Amino acid sequence: MTDTDRLLDPATRLARALGAHDAASHGVVPGIHPATTFLRGGDLTYPAGYSYARPFNPTFDPAERLLADLEGAAEALLFASGMTAATTLFQTLSPGDHVVAPKVMYWGLRHWLRAHAAQWGWSVDFVDMTDTGATAAAIRPGKTRIVWAETPANPTWDVTDLAATARLAREAGALFAVDNTVPTPLLTRPIDFGADVVMHSATKYLNGHSDVLMGVLAVRDTALPAWERVRAIRAAQGGMPGPFEAWLLLRGMRTLAVRLERGCANAMAIARHFAADPRVTVLYPGLPGHPGHGIAARQMTGGFGAMLSLRINAGAQAAIDTAARLKVWTRATSIGGVESLVEHRASVEGPDSPCPPDMLRLSCGIEAADDLIDDLDRALP
Ligand SMILES: *Cc1c(COP(=O)(O)O)cnc(C)c1O
Repeated sequence: MTDTDRLLDPATRLARALGAHDAASHGVVPGIHPATTFLRGGDLTYPAGYSYARPFNPTFDPAERLLADLEGAAEALLFASGMTAATTLFQTLSPGDHVVAPKVMYWGLRHWLRAHAAQWGWSVDFVDMTDTGATAAAIRPGKTRIVWAETPANPTWDVTDLAATARLAREAGALFAVDNTVPTPLLTRPIDFGADVVMHSATKYLNGHSDVLMGVLAVRDTALPAWERVRAIRAAQGGMPGPFEAWLLLRGMRTLAVRLERGCANAMAIARHFAADPRVTVLYPGLPGHPGHGIAARQMTGGFGAMLSLRINAGAQAAIDTAARLKVWTRATSIGGVESLVEHRASVEGPDSPCPPDMLRLSCGIEAADDLIDDLDRALP
């Protein structure tokens, strides 16, 4: 980071990519480095610090620096996917260790935790993390090694009090890790509230164009013992993106501030429009009636996110029929792209899903709000 960037708003730091450029050509866009191996000096050193592309690739550097800067982290690492990032952190656990995770969280990770915890000899308790007392009761001091949170949590947008949960984790000697995919560091910086590790699916808002699969871990302090293991696991297992994808991520992030601002405004406009509509129940932490609104207002700045869900009061089949009638909204999984997506989550997540069968998840893109609202208005029963 240049001294100039230190004083600038995150939106400016993003647009500038912290001043990253191509040192060899002085191009204003940093280069892509496809090399898998790097010249070694006659004295057996590596003059630029790179030896082989599995541990490190120079194309990652500007994206990792920008992510660490935005999160207020000491260091950030790119991974091949959000799931690779998250599971790498859990791979630092040993048999006998205990994890506390939320009941409402990204379903793919919940499934993975369920499947692998027993196989690898550690245990997981899933709790209602909107209730700090429930989290406190689940933590086993000396045995709980990771407390995992996600807020607002996909797909019902439950809100967790990060500062209170961080205190509980610290008192018990556990690492506090937060999936920050939905708010992005522009709306919430979990490290400011006491988190040790921040995880992202960069597939979503950070890249923002539904065309790159990637993940991120960022750490408060590189001296944390788990971080040494995280770095070693990535280097040894090779769960990182290719240089072309890493380059695309940096390009995508440069527009994050404007994309997210528009997405948040669209979500708020939709939430307000349908708040009093008897056909639906709106789940959005930006509405004062949402049970997590007060905490969200404290720990989110600049918006309540671009995600919301609608429960269709006529029931599950009416929800499926509503999605089928939409023309502007695209029926697809995933979130965080420039195009608005709608999904009936319960049919994807299966029988152990905490999401109600009458619920549609909406990922607001950057289209005009009126087009999105009119499409929903026409499609609802
Ligand atoms: C998509 C997603 C993930 C998983 O990330 P991938 O990049 O798909 O592996 C994790 N958490 C949240 C909140 C997500 O939306």
